[in-house]
Amino acid sequence: MKVTFPHMGNTCIVVKALFEYLDIDFITPPVCSKRTLELGTKYAPELACLPLKINIGNFIESIEKGADTIVMTGGCGPCRFGYYAEVQREILKDLGYNVDLFVLELPNGDIQEFLRRVRKLIGRQSLWKALIAIKKATKVSIELDQLDKLSFQVRPREKVKGKTDWIMRKFQHQVSKVKGPENIIRLINETRKELEAIETDPSIAPLKIGIVGEIYTVIEPFTNFKIEQLLGSMGIEVDRSLNVSHWIVEHMIKQALHLRKHRPYEEAAQPYLSTMIGGHAQDTIGNSVLYARQGYDGVIQLYPFTCMPEIVAESILPAVSNDLDIPILTLIIDELTGEAGYKTRIEAFVDMLARRKERKLRNNEYVLSGN
Ligand code: SF4
Repeated sequence: MKVTFPHMGNTCIVVKALFEYLDIDFITPPVCSKRTLELGTKYAPELACLPLKINIGNFIESIEKGADTIVMTGGCGPCRFGYYAEVQREILKDLGYNVDLFVLELPNGDIQEFLRRVRKLIGRQSLWKALIAIKKATKVSIELDQLDKLSFQVRPREKVKGKTDWIMRKFQHQVSKVKGPENIIRLINETRKELEAIETDPSIAPLKIGIVGEIYTVIEPFTNFKIEQLLGSMGIEVDRSLNVSHWIVEHMIKQALHLRKHRPYEEAAQPYLSTMIGGHAQDTIGNSVLYARQGYDGVIQLYPFTCMPEIVAESILPAVSNDLDIPILTLIIDELTGEAGYKTRIEAFVDMLARRKERKLRNNEYVLSGN
């Protein structure tokens, strides 16, 4: 059995840590590229969401490298994620690929079925070892997100432009070569020290932008044209409201174990969207409110064309923007999105935020928030 999985930003490193600890033979899907997207677009239904298309491309590229089993997480609720796996299974079958695709759904209901699927994956290894592997992989995800966060803070303040990008690129290259959670964490620690050693200009008070939206588009750099890097190189400090560790801890582990969740965005979203409508719409609203309260200069919402929960969120965001006086830009992405037009919209938004901040500083209206 050679297992593969969808590509979603740093999730690949987390799954790599998990599978290596469990000695599972696996193929990491190649980094998402134009070819991945073209394959997905060719074989998926035209109006399917972009992540489904890219994942089809990931699976085909991994199958070409020898994968025969696909593992993915499942979803439920009122958006299309719940039937992703079935659609993808049928598409691959129609294409003549003889692969096993199974979904590790949260054990809300049939725990026996969940354990049967886990057993199929880990073979004769004990469930205890699988639990330790999950713990270690979760730690990797937390460290990775902290490393990203540090790079978001250093990038706009670095004296030698491009240093942060160079270190993060080196990390991505090296991490594919090290094996096991411990070595991955060691590499993360070394990279953190390199980032901390970058010479920064303490007098810089960058504009701050929060990124919200649909999780795949927010987390996968191929889909969002490396938005954090782009904004950072323009001198903006970014914060990503969704990340892999939050998803694993809050949406998978705590939900499975029925533990108390830490989701401040739910309370923040209450006046605008008081219930979960699928996807991350409530996160989008709640986190936009939280960014406004924290004194951020602006918010960017990202989502794939036809994403139903984010369309609803987009229709509510103008009220958040008006009530809390925070500019919000929405960027909708599909396979036809051109990088140049996308960047132009971001540059125009940043220009507007810079002029707005200057005016506020002149008029003494600016609320200090670590700026
Ligand atoms: S959240 Fe949006 S993009 Fe993701 S599956 Fe649901 S509808 Fe599709």
